[in-house]
Amino acid sequence: MTKRPIAIMWFRNDLRLADNPALVKAVTWANENDGMVLPVFILDPVINSQLGGATRWWLERSLGALAKSLGSLSALRLFVGDAGKIIENLIDAHDIRAVFWNRLYDKPSTDRDTDLKAAILDRGLICESFKANLLFEPWEIKTGGGTDFKVYSPFWRACQKCPPPRQPIAAPQNIPLGDSVLADEATLSALDLGPKPFDWAGGFSERFTPGEAGAKQQLFDFIDDRLTDYADLRDRPDHRVTSELSPHLRFGEISPYQVWHSASHFADAHPGEGKTASKFMSELGWREFAHHILFHAKDLRSVPLQGQFAHFPWDQDEKALERWQRGQTGFPIVDAGMRELWHTGYMHNRVRMIVGSVLVKHLLIHWREGLAWFDDTLVDACPANNAFSWQWIGGCGADAAPYFRIFNPVLQGEKFDPAGEYVRQWVPELRDMPEQYIHKPWEASPLILKAAGITLGQTYPMPIVGVKEGRERALTAYQDMKQAI
Ligand code: FAD
Repeated sequence: MTKRPIAIMWFRNDLRLADNPALVKAVTWANENDGMVLPVFILDPVINSQLGGATRWWLERSLGALAKSLGSLSALRLFVGDAGKIIENLIDAHDIRAVFWNRLYDKPSTDRDTDLKAAILDRGLICESFKANLLFEPWEIKTGGGTDFKVYSPFWRACQKCPPPRQPIAAPQNIPLGDSVLADEATLSALDLGPKPFDWAGGFSERFTPGEAGAKQQLFDFIDDRLTDYADLRDRPDHRVTSELSPHLRFGEISPYQVWHSASHFADAHPGEGKTASKFMSELGWREFAHHILFHAKDLRSVPLQGQFAHFPWDQDEKALERWQRGQTGFPIVDAGMRELWHTGYMHNRVRMIVGSVLVKHLLIHWREGLAWFDDTLVDACPANNAFSWQWIGGCGADAAPYFRIFNPVLQGEKFDPAGEYVRQWVPELRDMPEQYIHKPWEASPLILKAAGITLGQTYPMPIVGVKEGRERALTAYQDMKQAI
């Protein structure tokens, strides 16, 4: 490698050039020191062990897009292994004087980063980390008593009392890069990120374009075409008005600052539309809150925040779990959601809540099973939002609705997909079902079923459990848990 001193820009969940403070710092350092920037991404089998099939699919494309924006596929240096060791090996082998990264918030990453930063500083080198992927650091927002928050509304109010999020930073104009190949460098294909055990990701690219350019386009389209209707229609899966920015935010292809300020400009430019913009911004607030909880919790993925739920009598029904995963529960809105997820790697938020509720309440299956399935199949599966949301659904998380509030999948379907358009799209065997029965085909007469071409139990399943029976079973289990404590 060249004799010029080097700054490592360590990309992690910030796969973008614009609004990337660590990258700007690396470039500034290189320019001031007649040096160059070494852009690095490391796939760490331990820290990245939660990456599921869908997120691996996304990551492969996102890394490819980032490398191209840097100049060529080989411009982004890829490695596989223990990230701390790999950075230290690079420092041993080359004239590296500085290392820069943007912060992560899950415990394995923060522990690793703290140790690594200390080791780099001990060598007398520069090491700096930056706030880039959250609007508010988890330790910045505190209750009046100086503790972290457990409830969303006061958390978000406290955030709004802070100075407004800074403006996004422009991408650096020229990034001085070296071109020699380094020892142990991997190619993108060697990262082996394709879905396993077979490729089910064909439909993902019909819906999404991973990478920074795709993220920007998604944001512009949302602000121009859909934000106006967001507050009124965001709960309607049949309308698709939400931003669908979640996988782009997950991989940091766009920053929350860029999203925040775009929504804020929209509100300034459209007096009278402030309500819809602030509703959207408050959803970004849920993302902030999930990261706040992730940072302060010991182990959000496996330990219920409300300790009593460690005694909940979950059922281990493998067959029911499989029917849920495959979209064969016999509840049309649930099956539509699970099939949308499988086909596109995404599911509408309202439907995530319904399918989650049916799993943990009507089927009494542990929320960790739902979390694991979503981790594998969602393109936006995120250590904070996914674990936080499953605990919320399970009634055992932060600011969760109490367990005994149980969604009725028929009424939810009728309320949020009234004409059944969403169900018809994803459960085509119900396409010809009249509106009145689309969310409860088992109530239709034999004549109506015949006219719609449906034989219950053959062309479409009977419900996996009665709506009322499942609800009563869940309430009994909840009472059993309370008595066991
Ligand atoms: P929009 O409505 O356009 O919202 C904009 C952004 O705000 C989203 O992209 C997301 O970053 C954030 N956001 C919105 N709603 C929430 C929320 N309830 N909690 C946290 N952040 C939110 N979101 C993920 O990003 N990754 C996950 O792995 C994930 N798992 C979930 C699991 C369950 C069981 C549930 C109920 C929700 C989950 N969510 C998750 C939250 C939410 O469903 C998605 O963020 C949202 O559907 C993404 O669509 P969107 O980008 O169109 O959202």
